[in-house]
Amino acid sequence: MRDGDVVVIGGGYAGVRLAKRLDATARVTLVDRKEVFFHRIASLRAGVHPEWSVTPFIPYDRLLRNGRVVTGKVVRIDTAERQVALATGERLPYDVVVIATGADYPEPARFTGTTTEEAVKSFAGHQQRIGGADHVLVVGGGPSGVELSAEIRLARPQARVTLAHAGPSLLHATGSERAGRRARAWLESHGVEVRLDSFMSPGNDFGTYRDAQGNIIEADLSFWATGTTPNTLWLRLAGHGDWLNPSGHVKVDRTLRVDGRPDVFAVGDVNDATELKITPAALAQADLAAWNIRAHLNSSGRHRKEPRLYRPMHRTPLIVPFGPADGLTMLPVPGGDTAVLGSRTSVLAKAKTLMTPYMRRQLGYAGA
Ligand SMILES: Cc1cc2nc3c(=O)[nH]c(=O)nc-3n(C[C@H](O)[C@H](O)[C@H](O)COP(=O)(O)OP(=O)(O)OC[C@H]3O[C@@H](n4cnc5c(N)ncnc54)[C@H](O)[C@@H]3O)c2cc1C
Repeated sequence: MRDGDVVVIGGGYAGVRLAKRLDATARVTLVDRKEVFFHRIASLRAGVHPEWSVTPFIPYDRLLRNGRVVTGKVVRIDTAERQVALATGERLPYDVVVIATGADYPEPARFTGTTTEEAVKSFAGHQQRIGGADHVLVVGGGPSGVELSAEIRLARPQARVTLAHAGPSLLHATGSERAGRRARAWLESHGVEVRLDSFMSPGNDFGTYRDAQGNIIEADLSFWATGTTPNTLWLRLAGHGDWLNPSGHVKVDRTLRVDGRPDVFAVGDVNDATELKITPAALAQADLAAWNIRAHLNSSGRHRKEPRLYRPMHRTPLIVPFGPADGLTMLPVPGGDTAVLGSRTSVLAKAKTLMTPYMRRQLGYAGA
């Protein structure tokens, strides 16, 4: 017998992991507004290279043995009735609800539409525009901006590619100057123009961009790798604005519950746990929340478990691919320093496959 109805809102990295963890012990319903899992880590390459167009999409059909996956946009959590409301009007009763709606990202790392066909079409549009551009501007020199600039350069050796970054060095938010220097050296040696201390905004004329000093860059195409926005507007519109902090993240306590709500959890990019918003953190939060949800559902039973407290992840390896055959890995080492490893580790651990086989296995599919 399974204990309780758990509705997981959002089938990204955190939601998928959590649903799978609880599938054997609770009645799980996973709801996502799109019909397939989107492996975002492969999305930058998919936006540039046609042969990667379908790689990021993995069906949900083999994820759960007992629970179900529903396609639909959640618009409200009705805490009085303990129901989740979908845009279609359908209502899903819950004993525990988990908000795992992640964050929105600029193109090309977005899933546009609800079906694979729609999203593939959007990738094809980016690939065509990149293929026809003489000058591509990438704004934002964090891991995504560096990775995207490298992918574009490798796909378009003859085009001009500029990476403009507001900070004093690439990857500076990671705290590793060495990694920033390595990334810059790779890009410049491959003919990418790197402009630092360049806070960009759109210029007055179409196809122009200006930095804070008033310098104008003309480009046929621009991509903005400048940050993310939590997917919580729907919560605000549904009257749960008091669950959010000023940046729109869901406020959680150390058990990953929404403050003061024993049956509402929030995991992954959507919450305000202070750490880098990356997949290992989303997965670790899903694991901890699964434990705490089981503890909550069994709280009156004989096998009562104590809730666990989440410890934010501040130091974790970070890999930045430079295309499929090169990259760098930032590896925290004891004493607070970061070692920077080169091509071999980065290619094996991520750059070549972008962790697609791993994610496919998580969803019950074999191989690449
Ligand atoms: C370009 C790029 C590259 C990245 N590369 C890496 C990397 O290499 N390594 C790494 O560790 N991290 C990487 N990240 C970060 C990583 O993608 C996030 O940390 C991760 O996606 C967080 O997972 P999540 O489950 O919280 O959210 P998401 O993966 O964003 O999933 C949220 C889900 O919620 C659904 N949803 C949203 N609103 C609703 C609604 N109202 N109703 C129903 N469903 C809804 C969405 O459709 C989505 O499926 C990268 C991010 C980007 C943008």
